[in-house]
Amino acid sequence: MTLRVIAIDGPAASGKSSTAGLVARQLGWAHLDSGALYRALTLAAIDNLAEDVRRKGKEWPATQLIDLAERLPVRLVLIGDKFKPEVAGADVEEAIRGERVTRHVSVLAAIPEVRTWVNTQQRRAVEGRRGQEGFGGVVVDGRDIGTVVFPDAPLKIFLTATAHERARRRLFQRGQEVDLELVKQESEALAARDAADSSRRIAPLKAAQDAVMLDTTALTLEEQVTHVVELARQRFSR
Ligand code: C5P
Repeated sequence: MTLRVIAIDGPAASGKSSTAGLVARQLGWAHLDSGALYRALTLAAIDNLAEDVRRKGKEWPATQLIDLAERLPVRLVLIGDKFKPEVAGADVEEAIRGERVTRHVSVLAAIPEVRTWVNTQQRRAVEGRRGQEGFGGVVVDGRDIGTVVFPDAPLKIFLTATAHERARRRLFQRGQEVDLELVKQESEALAARDAADSSRRIAPLKAAQDAVMLDTTALTLEEQVTHVVELARQRFSR
């Protein structure tokens, strides 16, 4: 049976999650934001292990991180048409977007054991939904969805936009004033995270060979969603 997954990858703030969520809604599919799971694990790590790591001047301990994620647990729960991140039964969708988590997430996401654990959760989430009544498919967004997590996804999209435009959108989304100096600062922060995500040894941020490249710098959100939905209707018409 065809894997009913659309993989959307791209750098930070390229509009992956907004696009994935709206595409899922238009198709009647579910949306899974893999970054949310890395962020939820990071939040749990900061709250439970950071003090120990700082005191001992050590790196994040891989085994303890996975034990913690299993024990709390850190997980994805399908609510309506979206997989939501939970830590110890609490919805953390808001808490994971803060600066504290954003600052640490790329370091934790570079740990091989963390990636294996997150990938397993994602595949289970999709597998558990497959074949269920009324289930269309899942739109998954992240950095390595088309290359590593679902390399057989029939439709892969790689979203890009200039760092300046991504920074501008991120500030606008936060309701912050979009002045030139702030855009510059934000675009430097995004570039630093992209550099960390692109240069890591395992599953670096990159486009799959068969991904459709979509530069959204000059597109509205509505235009990019329409484009992906059209591609999806062609690919999944059978
Ligand atoms: O997508 P978002 O910006 O929320 O992702 C947060 C971080 O999680 C990224 O900067 C990256 O380090 C990590 N990530 C990843 N692989 C994914 C999704 C996110 O490494 N598939």
